[in-house]
Amino acid sequence: MRTRSAVTAAALTLVGLLALACAIPEAPEYPDEAPAEVPEPEPTTDAETPVSNEPGRSMEGRFSYATMDEYVNEVVAEFMNPWLTDTWPGMRTPLVMYVGRGDGGPQNCTDADGEPAYYTGYSYEYCPGDETVYVGQETLWEFYSETGDAGPAMGIAHEYGHHVQFMLGVPAPRTSAQSVNYENQADCISGVWARWMERRGYLETAENSPNGRSDLEDIDLMFPIIASAEGADRDHGTIEERAQAFNDGYRGGVRACGLA
Ligand SMILES: [Zn+2]
Repeated sequence: MRTRSAVTAAALTLVGLLALACAIPEAPEYPDEAPAEVPEPEPTTDAETPVSNEPGRSMEGRFSYATMDEYVNEVVAEFMNPWLTDTWPGMRTPLVMYVGRGDGGPQNCTDADGEPAYYTGYSYEYCPGDETVYVGQETLWEFYSETGDAGPAMGIAHEYGHHVQFMLGVPAPRTSAQSVNYENQADCISGVWARWMERRGYLETAENSPNGRSDLEDIDLMFPIIASAEGADRDHGTIEERAQAFNDGYRGGVRACGLA
């Protein structure tokens, strides 16, 4: 994934304004052409035009186990909250809590056994009771080191998907079978996120990614890690189901996920 740094983004805005303010160019010297044929520069209407030529800053390989919190901050600020408010205008964004190794505490939720839930460094979950996405350093690093920069982000988009379900009033699952559908819908929403990323030009192809793998290939590597094994009591989709649900959202948008 590729982003502009905050400094670059601010500088670009300033450059855009300055360029407009100083929009009386000197006549360029083209010895082979009559000056009358030199076209006038088109007025810049979009101050962000230079961005399309800006190479951006890849998130691939830029973070370590120790800086997973910085990764989360950047992903949430650049990719998650802008996507959520673009896609569902007016919807509150969830809180995102980074949990470092060895940290933990209570959530305003119960776990599958009805016991009070706790967040830990292994968390990757959404708690509707406090509208918070918990992401733990250990699991973040597992995803980041095994798949690349887009894998953990897809996982965060999945948790945002649970927030969207909660905000839109999708009933919480009560059985394992309902849970599979609920989880597949969250995967579908993560596909909607990837579609938004693609359209914004934030996704890297294999050619321009430092790890030689496209962001969609990073995400493909996530499914074997996060899928449930086939079985009657499984509560998440299989590898194939999860990949299919992601693709539905990626190709078809929110309607393909059964959402408005
Ligand atoms: Zn889930």
